[in-house]
Amino acid sequence: MNEFFDPEWGFSTRGIRAAEPRTALREHSASISLTSSYVFSSAAEAAAVFQGELPGYIYSRFTNPTVEAFERRLATMEGGQSCVATASGMAAILTLCMALLKQGDHIVAARGLFGATINLFNTVLARFGLSTTYVDIADVGAWEAAIQPNTRLLFVETPSNPLCELADIAALAEIAHRHGALLCVDNCFLTPVLQRPLELGADLVIHSATKYLDGQGRCVGGAIVGDAQRVGKDVFAFMRTAGPCLSPFNAWVFLKGLETLAVRMKAHCDNARALAEWLEEQPQVKRVYYPGLASHPQHVLAQKQQSGYGAIVSFELDGGREAAWKLIDSTRLISITANLGDTRTTITHPATTTHGRITPEARAAAGIGEGLVRVAVGLEDIEDIKADLARGLS
Ligand SMILES: *Cc1c(COP(=O)(O)O)cnc(C)c1O
Repeated sequence: MNEFFDPEWGFSTRGIRAAEPRTALREHSASISLTSSYVFSSAAEAAAVFQGELPGYIYSRFTNPTVEAFERRLATMEGGQSCVATASGMAAILTLCMALLKQGDHIVAARGLFGATINLFNTVLARFGLSTTYVDIADVGAWEAAIQPNTRLLFVETPSNPLCELADIAALAEIAHRHGALLCVDNCFLTPVLQRPLELGADLVIHSATKYLDGQGRCVGGAIVGDAQRVGKDVFAFMRTAGPCLSPFNAWVFLKGLETLAVRMKAHCDNARALAEWLEEQPQVKRVYYPGLASHPQHVLAQKQQSGYGAIVSFELDGGREAAWKLIDSTRLISITANLGDTRTTITHPATTTHGRITPEARAAAGIGEGLVRVAVGLEDIEDIKADLARGLS
């Protein structure tokens, strides 16, 4: 490991240079440590490394140089002391809850969370005695009102999917801490390039590295970032024992992804903003949801807590499902897929895909109409993206 790290470094430099895993061969670009275990020169050395008396790698379930490089680099970018990488974004959320919560604890979460996260809380964690209350993401009073004596975690994803509603991170952190709870932010949509929840008071950040950290739709992975005790010790101890670990190959892909994250996110934002402004001018479009537009009800909060607006743009069409499906089916360039955070622009109809398994009433309450379309804006030429959508609008 190249220990050299200058705390004065700017954000882009950290993404490119921090924690570069250089071996004795002095390769310039990181190599991959594809090995499940490490050898020792003697029984005494093995004993000392296992006891933590000597530094050294043991077994790749919990110590691998490539995984560690990704963890340390992401930690410096989020402004956290420690990071533990996981097999997926869902594994990050599961690991965090298993490591830091216990039977009988209570979670307060935003209603519009990623569907699998809601399933995890309601089915898996519920069987182990954890309960969850859901509140409107933007209603700070509702978060506080939902707190119980056993509330240990506030969990939020901001901006939300697909309507791009925001949580006030600093306000939620204050509420959490006043009640002895932790605030965890799923920072998947903005990445540390555009939002750093720990600097706003959050205790923990989780990522689906599958999205923008990779950025090209290749690997599944995740991460938990936070302080040296909770993440560096408690989450790490759970990882060592339970093993939902990231593969070194995937860690290497994400490590390389971090090198271009800052420029990619800026380009994603430029395209998304241009598309949102263009969509607002189209007569067939009833409403556009994008925090970068002055028409967004939380535009001021977005300006305060984010340094960019992200690349998820949703819009409501006149003509309901028929119009939405026609628009989607008329695309030739944009991919019809639920994934996001890719160089390639993707399009989905939330009411029949990502939010298709919830009841129509719950969907209506969440504001997800039949005419809603979500676009995760990629890095193609913006004129080509517009032309692909214009065909289905006409
Ligand atoms: C995709 C996603 C997840 C889950 O991540 P996986 O890597 O697919 O397990 C969690 N949160 C958000 C916001 C996501 O978009």
